[in-house]
Amino acid sequence: MSKAKKYDAIIVGGGHAGLTMAVALAKLGFTLAVISPVKITAKVSDKGDGRALAISEAPRRMLDLLGIWPRLEGKYHPMQSVHILDGHVGDILQDALLEFNEENSDDKVAVAQVVESGHLLGAMWDAAQNESNIEFKVGVKLQDFERDAHGVSVRLDDGEVLQGSMMIAADGRGSLVRQQLGIKTFGWGYGQTAIVCPVAHEKSHEGAAYEHFYPSGPFASLPLPDVLGSDGVDGVHRSSLVWAEEPDVAAGLMSAGEDEFNAEMVKRFGLHLGEVGLCGERFSYPLGLQIAHEYIADRVVLIGDAAHGIHPIAGQGLNMGLRDIAVLAEVMVEARNLGLDFASYTVLNKYQQWRRFDVLSHAAFAEVINRLFSNDVAPVRFIRDLGLKIVDGLRPVKKFFNDEAAAKSGELPFLLKGRWPF
Ligand SMILES: Cc1cc2nc3c(=O)[nH]c(=O)nc-3n(C[C@H](O)[C@H](O)[C@H](O)COP(=O)(O)OP(=O)(O)OC[C@H]3O[C@@H](n4cnc5c(N)ncnc54)[C@H](O)[C@@H]3O)c2cc1C
Repeated sequence: MSKAKKYDAIIVGGGHAGLTMAVALAKLGFTLAVISPVKITAKVSDKGDGRALAISEAPRRMLDLLGIWPRLEGKYHPMQSVHILDGHVGDILQDALLEFNEENSDDKVAVAQVVESGHLLGAMWDAAQNESNIEFKVGVKLQDFERDAHGVSVRLDDGEVLQGSMMIAADGRGSLVRQQLGIKTFGWGYGQTAIVCPVAHEKSHEGAAYEHFYPSGPFASLPLPDVLGSDGVDGVHRSSLVWAEEPDVAAGLMSAGEDEFNAEMVKRFGLHLGEVGLCGERFSYPLGLQIAHEYIADRVVLIGDAAHGIHPIAGQGLNMGLRDIAVLAEVMVEARNLGLDFASYTVLNKYQQWRRFDVLSHAAFAEVINRLFSNDVAPVRFIRDLGLKIVDGLRPVKKFFNDEAAAKSGELPFLLKGRWPF
């Protein structure tokens, strides 16, 4: 390798995972380069990508510590309760079979906080721009890389070559880094496409999320903050919809006129929040499970969707990526403080070991729920509805699920406790 500047880590990808990783490591004193094909301007973050993300309490604490969460003032809404329903399309009123709320946790905090994906990305970008240890390479992509015993040499598609002690791949589900390393993935498509969009409704959601299970897939609404109405005074009550359907049905709904879309939506949404209608752009995402066989290789580590992508049914995808970040930062700091090579295979393997079980258990949970609920077989319906009713009456079981959803269970790294790993 040449004598060019050498970063401690080169981060490939400026999405949620890449930017948060950069902020965490910069604050811990590491020097970084972030390669991002896109510059996140206010226009990009305001437009968003249709998704609203439910951020669990422990990852939220980390975002707070990193100075990302305070940039979101007024842009998130607590999810104070989650109502799980099992109805048929067209049932205007449905009883909740299972309900979670703040009372199910010891610290009485909301189940999660809901924030639009674009706003969150904007806050992460702003926080990263503030860090003097981060250099951005914007408008370019990783092309390929080489490794030796001391580090990586990364070539960008404009010809520039960067040197680093290690590379962190945060380049999403289609990760080029993962492909070039020859790391295989396992998983499958669900035969479902999620339509996501904001909807406006007459009554306030009071912080409630609703998850309806229909045979074609889950249909969920997550509480969003109100926005000012056209009179500049009255707020418009909004929720974010995640509507999974078979791909051809979803394609039809994506191209349907607004009235037709609303008519189909209300059959599933019901009228518990009064009149409801689309209030923004529709986006669609094909759904599938994809987990990398390995999360590390010599001098390289995969984080976020590059390492694992799961069904959004339990809203855990990015939360898992944020857990990756907390664990990787901790093992790197620990090694550096002991005077060891923070990018050695032994250190990266500690990250892999720590993350593997958590990733697989969350993926399995989302898998079971999706399979159990995405069908209309009468005996299965009867048993699952009975099961939900029983769970609803069992406080300790609800507390367990609540802790899982809040990402507070398992061995927590310092950042997820809202503390620095010193
Ligand atoms: C419908 C839906 C709902 C969801 N709801 C939730 C939820 O409620 N809660 C939750 O926790 N998660 C949720 N998720 C999951 C969450 O959105 C993802 O896990 C998260 O956004 C992934 O972030 P990432 O940074 O790992 O990947 P990405 O967002 O895919 O970012 C990858 C980045 O890498 C860049 N890149 C790609 N190739 C290159 C290259 N060659 N060189 C340089 N850069 C490159 C891309 O431009 C991109 O910026 C949901 C997902 C879906 C689809």
